[in-house]
Amino acid sequence: MECEEYCFETRLLHNRHKIDAATGAVSVPIQHASTFHQFDVDSFGKYDYARSLNPTREALEDVIAELEDGVKGFAFSSGMAAISTAFLLLSKGDHVVITEDVYGGTYRMVTEVLSRFGIEHSFVDMTDLEQLKLAIKPNTKAFYVETPSNPLLKVTDIHAISKLAKENHALTFVDNTFLTPALQKPLTLGADVVLHSATKFLSGHSDVVAGLAVVKDESLARRLAFLQNSFGAILGVQDAWLVLRGLKTLHVRLEQSQKSAIEIASFFEKQPLVKKVYYPALIDHPQHDLQQIQAYGPGAVLSFELANEAAVRSFVSNVKIPVFAVSLGAVESILSYPAKMSHAAMPQLEREKRGIKNSLLRLSVGLENPDDLIKDFSQALVSVREGQLVGQQGESK
Ligand SMILES: *Cc1c(COP(=O)(O)O)cnc(C)c1O
Repeated sequence: MECEEYCFETRLLHNRHKIDAATGAVSVPIQHASTFHQFDVDSFGKYDYARSLNPTREALEDVIAELEDGVKGFAFSSGMAAISTAFLLLSKGDHVVITEDVYGGTYRMVTEVLSRFGIEHSFVDMTDLEQLKLAIKPNTKAFYVETPSNPLLKVTDIHAISKLAKENHALTFVDNTFLTPALQKPLTLGADVVLHSATKFLSGHSDVVAGLAVVKDESLARRLAFLQNSFGAILGVQDAWLVLRGLKTLHVRLEQSQKSAIEIASFFEKQPLVKKVYYPALIDHPQHDLQQIQAYGPGAVLSFELANEAAVRSFVSNVKIPVFAVSLGAVESILSYPAKMSHAAMPQLEREKRGIKNSLLRLSVGLENPDDLIKDFSQALVSVREGQLVGQQGESK
């Protein structure tokens, strides 16, 4: 990665909120006030009411805007609050083209909420630009990208889609939760709005739910600020502080987790019981080269397929180190079952169409020693194998 004034890891720590101007404090003060005294009837101060602006939330908004190379950041009470508020940039009669294996909550928002307000959508496999072009309508106003996608880690060409969007006078939204600005900067590739579930890698410790949005255009910034204040799903100050603290170690956490993820993906690839591994670092990943061009790394999330649901159940009940849970991007490894967790909001038929099988597991690699994780997965796979042998014996009786 080339650096401008300072490299990314330095910018995580050295920013304009490093030292509190009033006290010299080296941690951003948590300002709980909901309202601010006004000293003049005719001219109010910068802060008047905390939904509109609060100094602690503002610090986080400044920091994420800088890290994403945008002009303005916005902090929301969850990733879904950020995503839903960004969708309010659209109006009745507009159409959005959206990636088909999108996060389950975004799928639910688009299909069950926006549809009631007259906002249409088409799901497409965004790795296929020809299919994408066919989905464009005269009223298409936004392209919604998630890359790498969840849970199949498909990689979408952000630059190509942003260009297509511009030609069609539409906005490009990119959910950058999986890679964060440490590994991918959608705004520099042409996107208009970057969205985050800061619940994941940005905060990184499974102890806060938060969402962020960043834009690079002043007029879009004004529109989103108006929506943030109107809808009101803002991030509380304690949580803003937790995200700020988590951000300071983003680079080291992600680098270590990614290193382990690369080892674990190649371990899984060699296991006869693992039918398929989905991870952009693997040479046979269909968008391996694109990922190398548009991002600084493959990230720390991978998915893998076992023989069937019984094998998944056996693996999950025998594995000891990762937590088995919804979510990703934490210090502890998290094993998830997309069919029943992140994508439970998607009907089974829709899941199957997208290749999200009941035999698929997703792993977010944490900071444990990778050899310990591999040992744990090995012993769990032995149990899966033993279970299959017992099953076969049962059948032959
Ligand atoms: C978790 C997640 C979301 C939703 O974020 P919340 O903070 O849970 O509301 C959106 N997109 C992706 C890719 C996610 O992983």
